[in-house]
Amino acid sequence: MQDQLDTMKILLIYPYCLDPRKHEEDISVVPMGLYYIGALLKENGHDVEILNFHGMGGTPEKIRGILRARMPRVIGFSILNANRWGALEVARIAKEVDPGVTTVVGGVGATFLWEHLLTHFGQIDYAVVGEGELPFLNLVRTLDNAEELPAQSPAGPGSGNAAPDAAGKIPGVAWRRGGRPFLNPPGNPIAALDQLPNPARHFTYQHLSLTRGCPGRCTFCGSPRMWGRRVRSHSAAYFVDQMAMLYSRGVHFFYVSDDTFTLNKDRAVAVCREILRRGLRISWAAISRVDAVDEAVLVWMRKAGCTQISYGVESGSEKIRRQLNKRITREQILRAFSLTAACGIMPRAYFIYGCPGETPETIRETMDLIDDIKPLSAIFYILDILPGTDLYEALKESGRLGDDVWCDRIEDIPYYTQDPLLPEGRILEFGRQLRDHFHAKLPAFIDALQLKEDPELRPFHADFLSRLGLTFTHGDYARNEAISAPAAIAEKLFRRALAYHPDHRAFLGLGILYQQQRRFPASAEILEAGVRHFPRSEEMQICMAVSSMNMGRFDAAAAALKQFPENPQALQYLAHCCRALGDAEGEQRWMKQYQALSR
Ligand code: SF4
Repeated sequence: MQDQLDTMKILLIYPYCLDPRKHEEDISVVPMGLYYIGALLKENGHDVEILNFHGMGGTPEKIRGILRARMPRVIGFSILNANRWGALEVARIAKEVDPGVTTVVGGVGATFLWEHLLTHFGQIDYAVVGEGELPFLNLVRTLDNAEELPAQSPAGPGSGNAAPDAAGKIPGVAWRRGGRPFLNPPGNPIAALDQLPNPARHFTYQHLSLTRGCPGRCTFCGSPRMWGRRVRSHSAAYFVDQMAMLYSRGVHFFYVSDDTFTLNKDRAVAVCREILRRGLRISWAAISRVDAVDEAVLVWMRKAGCTQISYGVESGSEKIRRQLNKRITREQILRAFSLTAACGIMPRAYFIYGCPGETPETIRETMDLIDDIKPLSAIFYILDILPGTDLYEALKESGRLGDDVWCDRIEDIPYYTQDPLLPEGRILEFGRQLRDHFHAKLPAFIDALQLKEDPELRPFHADFLSRLGLTFTHGDYARNEAISAPAAIAEKLFRRALAYHPDHRAFLGLGILYQQQRRFPASAEILEAGVRHFPRSEEMQICMAVSSMNMGRFDAAAAALKQFPENPQALQYLAHCCRALGDAEGEQRWMKQYQALSR
């Protein structure tokens, strides 16, 4: 794919949302597609930089400063629906900074709204529709080959740029012809994904995808229209190469963002085998469907480092699941959740509420399902109507909605706003009820957790339980006021972890927990046991010294701390021990060493 070496400065920007989002983690990272495009452009000789504007809190001055410092010739924006306005704002500022810059939008937000965007927003020159790599590369080549960049007309609704004629030949690109939006025919999807340059050669990131496409037809999801219903895949070798390169740069946790990682179980197992063969000591989270997992694939995934699988459950009401065309049964949901937890993988459930036909009874059914599947993590979304989905198309066809609705400064359209049977107050109350119900039941779900008896899995079970424990001492659940007695839950989980295997995180977690509760003898005891298993653990030794100090055992604490003369925290504690022991000279010496280290 490399046949041209001409440098063009290109910025690829992941824009910000206008409103704070409830589930930031799903929207805060640069989509994988930008890294693929960036790598392809780089390997074709261009100067590419990827910027994540999410959460930047950017004022126009700040954005202007960033753009002036770089003066790109082309800016590509990857947009979802929610950050569309961020892209429009940045593109407007970019045209003020340099009227000659070419602005391109791509991603799911551009794929289904290209016509709307090119009709109403003159600051956007082109849209890339669908799979972006080849259209974007070809567009850049066209711009580069043109004697000069296309003259830009002033930004404003309906204005357009004089695109070079050649742009009209690039498959998958939307542009303006005579001031009107026009979409070229699509190109073929990239059949052999491994031909794409490995993005990890150029960038560092945590989100990876093995496949593109989903055979599903859920009415609320735009993925099948965006990527196609036929699934294409990288090879296991390409995928794990990527992980290995990132691992060598210190990335040890990955999000595998495929719609259904286990759609082809053999391929998923091949990935797991390859991770294990290369000895990558990594953790990762994946997404799957409840009808696409079995025990064998889950065991492989666990051994290869998978710690969490998210499943779209959507609703406990069969009637609503049918409405959403989810095509999963209650039995499949129950089975997937119990198997996943049994293999020591955190099963996370996505639920959607505020659906057509939602009533107090359907919400009750969802709560009943929650009780049955006992998820250890659950995310509750209001049903939104997104372009590219069957739901949106149906509303358009009925005349109740049109693309012009996106001219308003909105990021989402909750479904209930279009349904007179779903008053807003009631839907918000449904959401509160579901969340409260889940949080109230979570301690019982944890008590009911049954792990698969398998000697090989014991260390993994310990790892799973201690990770879960950590979410109650330092993670989301620790901060959640709806969960009662999180420390007691964490203690139980750490203890249970140690019953399976001597787990570093569990020893340390318990030691710190007891310190926080001022149970210093208990803390010292568990940490001593931990140190016997992990004598080289600096963290554990220092933590144990803190417990000793709190028990007045300064000699013992000092003896432990002296092993770490390069650790500033250890030196501070050492100085403290000397002071407590009346050793002024020692105190001074250690403080001096501490200051030297901190300089
Ligand atoms: S929700 Fe998941 S299974 Fe359904 S269409 Fe979207 S990606 Fe496919």
